[in-house]
Amino acid sequence: MSTEAEALELDAADPGHRELFDVPPAQGGDYPEVAYFAGNSLGLRPKATRAELLEDLDSWAALGVEGHLDAARPWLPYHELLTGPAARLVGALPSETVVMNTLTVNLHLLMVSFYRPTRSRHRIVIEDSAFPSDSYAVRSQVEFHGYDAEDAVIRLRPRPGENSLRTADVVEQLGGDVALVLLGGVNYLTGELMDIPTITKAGHAAGAIVGWDLAHAAGNVPLALHDWDVDFAAWCSYKYLNSGPGAIAGAFVHERHLGADLPRFEGWWSTDAKTRFEMTPESRPPATADAWQVSNPPIFAMSPVRTSLEIFDKIGIEVLRERSVRLTAYLAGLLAGLEVITPADPARRGAQLSVRVPGAGALSRRLRFEYGVIADSREPDVLRFAPVPLYSTYHDCWRAGAAMAEVTA
Ligand SMILES: *Cc1c(COP(=O)(O)O)cnc(C)c1O
Repeated sequence: MSTEAEALELDAADPGHRELFDVPPAQGGDYPEVAYFAGNSLGLRPKATRAELLEDLDSWAALGVEGHLDAARPWLPYHELLTGPAARLVGALPSETVVMNTLTVNLHLLMVSFYRPTRSRHRIVIEDSAFPSDSYAVRSQVEFHGYDAEDAVIRLRPRPGENSLRTADVVEQLGGDVALVLLGGVNYLTGELMDIPTITKAGHAAGAIVGWDLAHAAGNVPLALHDWDVDFAAWCSYKYLNSGPGAIAGAFVHERHLGADLPRFEGWWSTDAKTRFEMTPESRPPATADAWQVSNPPIFAMSPVRTSLEIFDKIGIEVLRERSVRLTAYLAGLLAGLEVITPADPARRGAQLSVRVPGAGALSRRLRFEYGVIADSREPDVLRFAPVPLYSTYHDCWRAGAAMAEVTA
């Protein structure tokens, strides 16, 4: 086991960007701050967020309705400030990217366009360990179109005795009756990073549309959605993107589909901004992902997303990923005696290690109140640790390793 002194040396040699974040005080243990491993559930607040949000809020006090055009960051085109940084983060063109709504809402809006079942091709493929929201979303879409969810939703399971999905097994299940493949880029439970380009290609070869839920992938691993030819994707901004609880989400539609004659649910923000205020009865959607917008966006909820994306833009996801691989490997070494269900290959995982351990819920409470270590539990027996390269430290990992050794002894 690495010593505390070694952890501190590693921090000196390979520092992250903890100084940019507010780290909560610990409620137990020997250190003033928590060792925070729940950034895959709710990322920490960047220090800059508060002041920048207050600036936007004060534009309202100072300008009233005129803030739409005259605010320092005018509200009418506000969402466009987020488009470039979000696009760079996920490897997309700005025209393919829009920040809007929340994640599951975006999945629904995108399925309106991209899940178009026919009698002979109406199945949707998801992971058996899909996040429940995705499972409910696809089942309700299937039923909305008049099909039976039990029959139409194919749930992929790992082989008996295994914890993650093998790419070849996924590919094999993509038959001619599959209309849509909708998988998590990084699985929320196991932390498995899927082979997005290979599965996307295989889905297309089978004649299916391939969408990705990037809730646990955006801000965690480098993505190249455009080059991988992904049809559509959506992600939330409150996990690795540190934009606050319920933050505004992202969506991607591949250039191939922009301007195409696809069904969409529209509102006044779906129409071209240049002619929006002509107030015509019919919309004139732009040939960009902005056409999937419906309502005018909540500025005060977008402000933290803008602040956070600036951090990613400045540092770069590739650089963060390199530190993430080192930090996660270090934590993996410290947890080596436990049953880690996340793939051991760094290429098949992001910044998360999931430990299968009986009584995970009670253990997570002990970690919090006796050691100041924040890791969450998922029913029935999984503890999740996300060493986040922006603000987690080797010393945090050392604390987690030492605490786990004690609580599982
Ligand atoms: C976190 C998460 C969600 C949450 O959905 P919201 O619409 O943001 O509430 C959905 N899907 C996955 C895969 C997630 O990890």
